[in-house]
Amino acid sequence: MRASSIKKYLRPSTIVGRKSTFANAFASALAPHDIYTPEAVAQALRDLEQDPDQELQCVYCEAAAATWDHVFNRVLKGEFSGHGHRIRNLVPCCRTCNESKGQKPWRNFLELRNPPDKEARIRRIEQFLASAEVKPISSEVASHNADEDLKRFLEIRSQVFDLLTEADRLAVIIRQKAAG
Ligand SMILES: [Zn+2]
Repeated sequence: MRASSIKKYLRPSTIVGRKSTFANAFASALAPHDIYTPEAVAQALRDLEQDPDQELQCVYCEAAAATWDHVFNRVLKGEFSGHGHRIRNLVPCCRTCNESKGQKPWRNFLELRNPPDKEARIRRIEQFLASAEVKPISSEVASHNADEDLKRFLEIRSQVFDLLTEADRLAVIIRQKAAG
C-alpha cells in the first residue's frame, strides 16, 4: 500500500455522494425475485457449462467466482430497469469483473475485458439467457399504468433525495461550527 492512498479519507464525505446506493435500494425494493430452487439453479449453471456441485468460475474471466453479477442491472440511470433477482439474471462472477462491469451491458463488458475465449463465453451467456422465461416489467409500462402506489413510491424516493441534500448542507455548517 502507498502512503498516498490515505488521501481518500482526508476529504469531506457527502451523503448525496452515496445516492446510487439509495437509488439501488429503491430499485431493489421494486425488483422481482425468483424463489430458490436447487434444480433451477443447477440447470442455469449447466447452461453456463459449469458444474453446480463444484466451486464456480467467473463467467467473464479465468478467476474463481466470489459473487453473483446481475447480467442486466436492476438500475439504469437511477431508475428501476425492470430486471430483478432472478436465477436467469444472476451469474457467477469474480469481484474484479463485478466492480468493473458497473452498468455496462454484459456484451460490451466482455468485449472490453476481452478474455482469450471471449466467443465461447458470449455463447454460454446467450445459452443461459435463452431460457429466461420471464420478461422484465419495464418501468415505462409501470408508469403508464399510473398506479397510485407507484406514484407515491416515486414521490417518497424523491423526498428522500431532497432530505439527503438538506442533510449534506447542514453537515457542512455543523463541521464549520465544530472547527470554530
Ligand atoms: Zn472475472
